[in-house]
Amino acid sequence: MADQAEWAPISPYSTGIRGRCPRCGQGHLFNGFLTLRPSCEVCGLDYSFADPADGPAFFVICFACVPSVALAVWIEVAFQPPFWVHLLISLPFLLLTCILPLRPLKGWLVASQFFYKAEQGRIDHRKPQPPAV
Ligand SMILES: [Zn+2]
Repeated sequence: MADQAEWAPISPYSTGIRGRCPRCGQGHLFNGFLTLRPSCEVCGLDYSFADPADGPAFFVICFACVPSVALAVWIEVAFQPPFWVHLLISLPFLLLTCILPLRPLKGWLVASQFFYKAEQGRIDHRKPQPPAV
């Protein structure tokens, strides 16, 4: 019955970033930090369609890892601090900026897959219909 119900489209930003079901917005998307649940506990949406692959890691590498390493290199070049300064500043900054965004990014990508109905392409074997005149 839940599959037949009409669901109003919900923005993937509001559901995915909060880790909520992309269809109902109520159920949980994750069963841990990054593990997807098999389905939504509220509406029953099967999450087997979800395959963000390396998407979250790509965004984190581009927008968090590279700037974090650049910060560490800048600290090293500009101040030439002792090693423990990097342990107290660079390493925690790198870990926080690279690990914390993974979950919201993965949720956003999965919700976007559902919202935009993104899936692998398939060959259409039906006969083409002549154009209507
Ligand atoms: Zn749901």
